[in-house]
Amino acid sequence: QVRWSSISSTDIRGYKGHDMLAPFTAGWQTTDVDPLVIQKSEGSYVYDINGKKYLDALAGLWCTALGGNEPRLVAAATKQLIELPFYHSFWNRTTKPSLDLAKELLDLFTTNKMAKAFFTNSGSEANDTQVKLVWYYNNALGRPDKKKFIARTKSYHGSTLISASLSGLPALHQKFDLPAPFVLHTDCPHYWRYHLPGETEEEFSTRLANNLENLILKEGPETIAAFIAEPVMGAGGVIPPPATYFDKIQAVVKKYDILFIADEVICGFGRLGTMFGCEKYNIKPDLVSVAKALSSGYMPIGAVLVSPEVSDVIVSQSNKLGTFSHGFTYSGHPVSCAVALETLKIYKERNIIEQVNRISPKFQEGLKAFSDSPIIGEIRGTGLLHGTEFTDNKSPNDPFPPEWGIGAYFGAQCEKHGMLVRVAGDNIMMSPPYILSLEEIDELIVKYGKALKDTE
Ligand code: PLP
Repeated sequence: QVRWSSISSTDIRGYKGHDMLAPFTAGWQTTDVDPLVIQKSEGSYVYDINGKKYLDALAGLWCTALGGNEPRLVAAATKQLIELPFYHSFWNRTTKPSLDLAKELLDLFTTNKMAKAFFTNSGSEANDTQVKLVWYYNNALGRPDKKKFIARTKSYHGSTLISASLSGLPALHQKFDLPAPFVLHTDCPHYWRYHLPGETEEEFSTRLANNLENLILKEGPETIAAFIAEPVMGAGGVIPPPATYFDKIQAVVKKYDILFIADEVICGFGRLGTMFGCEKYNIKPDLVSVAKALSSGYMPIGAVLVSPEVSDVIVSQSNKLGTFSHGFTYSGHPVSCAVALETLKIYKERNIIEQVNRISPKFQEGLKAFSDSPIIGEIRGTGLLHGTEFTDNKSPNDPFPPEWGIGAYFGAQCEKHGMLVRVAGDNIMMSPPYILSLEEIDELIVKYGKALKDTE
């Protein structure tokens, strides 16, 4: 029985058959798909064009950490727009906000030292840039064969050609002739789903590290340039790794002189209760990608942070060759940088880490209380990240028939009750704004509970 297809057709929103090829959207310009048109935001809430209010439990798209209409970010953007709306950073010309932001980012990343920041407009561009930097680095070192990347199944690193290749989600590859051949995928560290009978988390992590080592040996360590990972997988279903997983993975990667790239696009800037996910899992990366909460989503911006070891090689090679020919018109856009600088200032002044750690136990425990639901396989999360996976019999091996669309139905019920969540198959994800009050967490949990009851 297809349970959810009747919902959107009864909900008249008024923009059927619109003119956009909208990203990550099914059924453009058909009569039964009508977009939810969001018009304004206020704190942890957004409103649609009909005035209906929704608790924004995904913070836009995992990004509006400070919620809607933070006046200081509006003021920072306005001031910069008046003073200098645009100047680029090519050919040794640049702007003060981009220089200041680079310094601020390097100071903020403390698990190990980072020496340089390169600005992009998005997380996808940051990860594309990573690949080019790593190739440039290995070419400079006279290792032209060390070019392959290892990513993980279920990871999400973006949707440009290269970042979609790195991503480990089949939907990003099918019909796009991806992944590119230089990208290999290794195991997803989802213990509940993939552990063997009787295997402990520790044994599971050891097995995954061994699998990674075997893949490297099979391909030839001299061909593997870098390993990329999100500290906690986000769009793949919010999957926190077992405690010692990254220790074991880092040991393997180091042994074969493979660079570690931490994709902090979701985890960065406090989401897990630490400034970066690397801090939480003791990851010492060579390169880092950030975006999203860097500007609280108010302006598009991303960045790559580069360790001294890697940047020394890149800088000296470029001194030999001349111009480092990579960059975007809007790399270091002054308005984006001004907004990001103000965002980071607010995070510090309001002690955002303390705030996340103050509210996240209530968020996590409130949702964990639904674990007994007969349609829930697993409830997981950490910090202000949450994932629900619907399965039958509490088993990862008993998915509900896809045509039932349980996840989509649950998402539609949330929407009906005034809350927006992320749905991917039978996975539900949430990453609410950091400004959520304890009362708003109560509201989130009540709305989740109502949607669950409707779905059961
Ligand atoms: N990396 C991660 C971990 C992400 O979650 C995302 C987006 O969700 C990206 C990269 C891509 O970022 P963008 O959509 O800004 O290109």
